Amino acid sequence: MFSFRARDISASGTGDIVLSLFLLISIKEIFSRGNGRGYNFPRPPNCLRQGCGSNRIWGHGSVGAYFYGYDSPLFLRRYRCADCGCVYTLRPAECWPRHRTPIMIVLSRLIHREKKGVWDTSNGLTRQMQDNWLRALKRNIKTYVGMSFRGSLIDGFHELIAGERIPILRLE
Ligand SMILES: [Zn+2]
Repeated sequence: MFSFRARDISASGTGDIVLSLFLLISIKEIFSRGNGRGYNFPRPPNCLRQGCGSNRIWGHGSVGAYFYGYDSPLFLRRYRCADCGCVYTLRPAECWPRHRTPIMIVLSRLIHREKKGVWDTSNGLTRQMQDNWLRALKRNIKTYVGMSFRGSLIDGFHELIAGERIPILRLE
C-alpha cells in the first residue's frame, strides 16, 4: 500500500521531521468518500526512520492540501511516531508533496513543450505555471544529475525521479 518515500524531508512547525508516504489510491477515490476526513487512511505499522522502527504510531490530525481540478482541500491523514517524533503524511501517489498537479499531467505538458515548442495551456494550467516547472526542472537537472548531462529534459525528468527527487521542486 505504501509505495514511495520522498527523500526531501521538511521540518514541521514543531521541529519534527515530516515524511510523505504515498498511497496507491487516486485523489478521486479519496474525494468520492468526502473531503478525506472520512477516509480510512491506513496506519503505518512501524516507524520507517532508520534506527527507529517503533510500532507506537499515533494519529496526528490531518493537513489540508489542494489538488488540480478540485476547488476544496482534501484532508490528508497524519501519523506521528511517539518515540522519534517523525510525522507521516499520507498522500495519493499521483502528486508530489507541495504540488497540486498530478505527476502524469506535469510530464505530459513538458513533453508537449519539448515536441511543439509551445505550452499546452488548456484546462487552466497557465504558461507562467508551466514556465516555473521548466525552470525548476532545468535547475534540478544541473544540480542533481550533473552539468555534463547531455540527455533531453524529459530524460532528466526521469533521472531525477529515479534519484527520488521531485523534478519540478523549486529550490529555496
Ligand atoms: Zn520513529
